[in-house]
Amino acid sequence: MSHRLDLKVGYRCNNHCRFCVQGDKRSRIPDKSTAQIMAVLETRRPDNDEVVFTGGEVTLRKDFFALVRCARSLGYRSICIQTNGRMFAYEEFCKKAIESGANSFGLALHGSTSEIHDGLTRAPGSFEQTVQGIRNLVKLGQRPSTNTVITRYNYADLPALARLLCSLRLRQFQFAFIHINQLIKADPRLVSEIVPRKSVVEPYVKEGLQTGIDHGIRVMVEAIPYCCMSGYEEYLSDKYIPEASVQEEIFIEDFNRHRREKGKLKGPCCSACRYDAACEGPWREYPELFGWEEFKPVAKDERAGRKARVCVQQ
Ligand code: SF4
Repeated sequence: MSHRLDLKVGYRCNNHCRFCVQGDKRSRIPDKSTAQIMAVLETRRPDNDEVVFTGGEVTLRKDFFALVRCARSLGYRSICIQTNGRMFAYEEFCKKAIESGANSFGLALHGSTSEIHDGLTRAPGSFEQTVQGIRNLVKLGQRPSTNTVITRYNYADLPALARLLCSLRLRQFQFAFIHINQLIKADPRLVSEIVPRKSVVEPYVKEGLQTGIDHGIRVMVEAIPYCCMSGYEEYLSDKYIPEASVQEEIFIEDFNRHRREKGKLKGPCCSACRYDAACEGPWREYPELFGWEEFKPVAKDERAGRKARVCVQQ
């Protein structure tokens, strides 16, 4: 069975996303050194056959290609670059990343237009670069995936974004409900500015997913529980996350357990729900801010809601 190492190389980034889950870490925590990262790759290899380089933005590092080559020489089967995608706008950079051994690419795209995406990343030109990055990777034979953070700024745009993503011939796209960081949670103005209600985003998420499904693209939704996704339950990412460890400031050996016990939260009514055993619940900050009224247990003898129209997954 696959086991994944998520390796956070540092928190430096050339985007400044309004919702960044890493909060102010970029100003507090220095990047890991090349030697530190290579030592982690070597030490953790016996227990992991996949590595995800993440952060921060790993492609900004001068040692980026050396790190990828190191992972390849150690025999990692899957070498994934989790990225804002901007450096991949340069075709030579893409070629060199692939030649070095990168074979999986997860890019962040948060809107179907410059106005929406750049408004969220606060990095003018980032939309054009990320979209070009996807085009370059596809042209070079890769099948990238994308992640979109759902916020107040972009939830109504999800169907249009899905149409764009389908036209780019991705392998997969995912919509991930915003994980509210401590900076946002502490500031009521930021909460009301950025965090939408799950019940409000639901129809837009479903329409976007359905667009991907209709085009035969693998689609996922993260951090929206079963009770809010009637008819689309099989697309919840909770069901597909592989066993994973995370190396950040500390090493978390069983990250899935850590996420369930420390990151997510179940509500007072969840024990009455038919999905109680499978469901991780929302990120805990959401019900801590908004309560549980949107989460209605699904009766144990209730059939799942209307199924998505076509369920073609590649
Ligand atoms: S277990 Fe709770 S959060 Fe999960 S689907 Fe059921 S009611 Fe919703």
